[in-house]
Amino acid sequence: MQLELSAEDAAFREEMRAFFTTKVPQEIRDAVAARQELTKEQIVESQRVLNAAGLAVPHWPVEWGGQDWSELRRHIWHDEMQRACVPLPLAFNASMVGPVIAQFGSQEIKERFLAKTANLDIWWSQGFSEPDAGSDLASLRTTAVKDGDEFVVNGQKTWTTLGQHGDWIFCLVRTDPEAKKQRGISFLLIDMTSPGVTVRPIELIDGGHEVNEVWFEDVRVPADNLVGELNAGWDYAKFLLGNERVGVAPVGATKRVLAQAKEYAGDQLADPLIAARFAELENELLALELTVLRVAAHSADGKPHPASSVLKLKGTELQQAVSELVVDLAGPASLASGAGSDSSDLPAWTHRATPAYLNLRKASIYGGSNEIQRQIIAKTILGL
Ligand SMILES: Cc1cc2nc3c(=O)[nH]c(=O)nc-3n(C[C@H](O)[C@H](O)[C@H](O)COP(=O)(O)OP(=O)(O)OC[C@H]3O[C@@H](n4cnc5c(N)ncnc54)[C@H](O)[C@@H]3O)c2cc1C
Repeated sequence: MQLELSAEDAAFREEMRAFFTTKVPQEIRDAVAARQELTKEQIVESQRVLNAAGLAVPHWPVEWGGQDWSELRRHIWHDEMQRACVPLPLAFNASMVGPVIAQFGSQEIKERFLAKTANLDIWWSQGFSEPDAGSDLASLRTTAVKDGDEFVVNGQKTWTTLGQHGDWIFCLVRTDPEAKKQRGISFLLIDMTSPGVTVRPIELIDGGHEVNEVWFEDVRVPADNLVGELNAGWDYAKFLLGNERVGVAPVGATKRVLAQAKEYAGDQLADPLIAARFAELENELLALELTVLRVAAHSADGKPHPASSVLKLKGTELQQAVSELVVDLAGPASLASGAGSDSSDLPAWTHRATPAYLNLRKASIYGGSNEIQRQIIAKTILGL
């Protein structure tokens, strides 16, 4: 495998680095570097800066704002963005609903939604999971019943990330209760301001408000908001989930936090056990980065390679391990979690260590739990 970048790709890396470090507001990048939660406005502003330069959705078809880049260039773009502490384009828009609409939607739906989705004029939420349909997603019970040229939607979604900011939600809904469970599901776009939609917060272990329950009571949705074919939603969901898993291997961000941790460690680096933890994590991250490149190189026709499950599994394990190392480095100071800089003499990073650690417990659950990824790897890659 050729690990050196060609002169052209090295120049491309420099171009990306210069853009991300000079055009995205410093205040936003500082918040990411400090591992703080971003506001909606910061996420929107950052994505619009990227989109104006054609850097928000490079993996989409060129016709809809994508870039005809090699997989390697996409990787460089992704890596440099994380290295520069630039928030990644909102995954629900850029990696989930956008590619589904571009691949399976009608021309009319593409024209209605894609440009606004790329520019974050519409903030999308993901309405897949339900109280008894998480890992066993095909058991979902939210129904959409055709009534004239509308669907009437009833049911409940859960764990809807940032649903409090959502303008629209893309939902899996049951449209044929008689069919085998995977074959009776459709992919429907729902305006969250429609009468009958209620969003309720779920409080999390880190004290943040990141997820919600979303309820639908007789919500009337124009039939035109169906993506693709009726009852073919499961195929689109599988396509989306594969993309989601590729996107959840945040190698660049994890490398950045590990490098920050080395600075935080100071004298503790002289401890052989601490030094060994750094060495092991750095090696594992390098191995993961090579796997990301291999997966990217083997994705055909925009379809994710089954090894995307390896990226999800390993990427989240390393992300969690690095967050744990930061807590250990902070030691007793990590107990100051939540303290403001004006109420504590301890370095600011120690205040963020525990909330960030607790928040990242989610990473092995969302996007398909790691137990489920192991089963996919066992079946589709190892043939067990
Ligand atoms: C922070 C967060 C954000 C999320 N955001 C969204 C969102 O925006 N939109 C959305 O639609 N969903 C979202 N999810 C939902 C997420 O996709 C589900 O939580 C996930 O698919 C697991 O489903 P579950 O929670 O119902 O757990 P369950 O499926 O009930 O699983 C419970 C446990 O049992 C294990 N398990 C289940 N089945 C098996 C099996 N066959 N073999 C071995 N082990 C098994 C699981 O791995 C898990 O450890 C989010 C979840 C979290 C935690």
